[in-house]
Amino acid sequence: MNYQRGEQLIKRKGLKKTKLRLALIHHFIKTPHAKSYADIKQAFPQTTDKSTLYRNLAAFERAGLIHSINDHSGITKYAFGAAPIKGNEHAHFVCEYCETVYCMEGLAPLQLDVPLGFKTNKVQTIIRGTCAAC
Ligand SMILES: [Zn+2]
Ligand SMILES: [Zn+2]
Repeated sequence: MNYQRGEQLIKRKGLKKTKLRLALIHHFIKTPHAKSYADIKQAFPQTTDKSTLYRNLAAFERAGLIHSINDHSGITKYAFGAAPIKGNEHAHFVCEYCETVYCMEGLAPLQLDVPLGFKTNKVQTIIRGTCAAC
């Protein structure tokens, strides 16, 4: 994986290219699992302050470079890639041992009949189990 891809993505989304953003997007591209804020902070120990990191994550999320996952641990995690769009939701696999969250590919769209008058905003599928590393 190279820095070029991240650079292109940032450019294509119309975001200003900063050293931190390049490093961040590269970090997301090269790691296939979701990361919490604490994980990201740990990967960039020398990096600036909390709010700068949060701001950049928020900008990435708005631009569709990453998506956030609420796995019911109460800690938001972030993974590379645009947020699953309606009708094309992907599931997240949560390992019960190492608590790593992985994006799953190829989940059939959920056919769920919500009662009349209900409006679905977001569908989240969480699969719990043991990952290959555990
Ligand atoms: Zn695991
Ligand atoms: Zn995902």
